Amino acid sequence: MVSTMVGPDTSTGAEVQGATGCLTIDLSALGRNYTRLASIVAPARVAAVVKANAYGLGVERVATILDRKGCRHFFVAHLSEALELRPMVSGDAQVFVLNGLQPGCEIACTEGGIIPVLNSMEQWRRWSTAACSLNRILTAVLQFDTGMSRLGVPPDERPALAQALRTDRNVEILFIMSHLASADEPDSDQNGEQLAEMRRIAAEFAGLDLSFANSGGVFLGDGYHGALARPGIALYGGAPTAGVLSPMEPVVSLDVAVVQVRTVPAGTKVGYGGVHVTQRDARLATIAAGYADGLPRSLSDRGAVYYEGVRLPIVGRVSMDSITVDVSALPEGTLTLGSLVEVLGSNQTLEDLARDAGTISYEILTGLGDRYQRRYR
Ligand SMILES: *Cc1c(COP(=O)(O)O)cnc(C)c1O
Repeated sequence: MVSTMVGPDTSTGAEVQGATGCLTIDLSALGRNYTRLASIVAPARVAAVVKANAYGLGVERVATILDRKGCRHFFVAHLSEALELRPMVSGDAQVFVLNGLQPGCEIACTEGGIIPVLNSMEQWRRWSTAACSLNRILTAVLQFDTGMSRLGVPPDERPALAQALRTDRNVEILFIMSHLASADEPDSDQNGEQLAEMRRIAAEFAGLDLSFANSGGVFLGDGYHGALARPGIALYGGAPTAGVLSPMEPVVSLDVAVVQVRTVPAGTKVGYGGVHVTQRDARLATIAAGYADGLPRSLSDRGAVYYEGVRLPIVGRVSMDSITVDVSALPEGTLTLGSLVEVLGSNQTLEDLARDAGTISYEILTGLGDRYQRRYR
């Protein structure tokens, strides 16, 4: 008879049925986070940034909930993401492409009902030309660079653009926007500098609504809210401000299955390169997720997973498909094949894991692989 991979603990093992683990996404917490942000910035509105598959959580489920909560502005990075998202949200919702209007995309944009964020005079000109040849008015958003040097109309193009907008009747600008580089650090001077620049721009392009705040910006105060905030990470339970207790509800938890347990004597090498050597007799468990599942290799010999509140340190290098943890702190026999250990949950936040990996919550979230069984609550 062919043996199965499932060990004696089939009650929990059955939950993941051969997957590496279970990624649970709490859609009601997501909805409450949206409502929370909306109440903070009211009477300004709250858009949702759902780029990169809603930060890895599944854009269809996420957008559907937010649409139901009344969100009518959705931002993605690329046109392809926008075209995928468009049918998932209400007809009166607007879908914006942050990375701008790329050459040759004008018709796909108009036919798809997508609103480009124009990042230069040249992009505006192409949109205006498209409007002219279609003999209709096209809508757009204008993004300005206020000090990040990433996307947006550069300062030296502003006078000509302001002049052009005064006479152009082909493009209707819905609002102007910019992006904060240091919004998660309330003490950074860059916030005030960018706000001052945004106010100068608002005066040059008078009469247009403003969109400025990402997640961090929402918590910088009313001055940053404009007419439309654009949070991403805070919706998904990430901390909007560095180093302070997050006011957002966690949305994601991750439990990974144990696939082997063993007891080894002191002096035993663990994992690739043999870089970890046990200092004493130890019980080890190998769990079924590695760097291919978005658990960075920088967690090698750093960080931990949890089981019923007990910390289980990661030992040795993170492999592609597995990680070995020291489970000596648990009574023998506690973990068996198929037992699930917590990687993200009540004992370990996204920020905790990100810190141990030397990265940020955004990179952890967007990197979580597709070998997990995704469960929506
Ligand atoms: C990604 C992004 C956001 C969302 O940022 P968070 O920090 O996740 O809230 C908002 N605006 C722009 C332009 C972005 O690129």
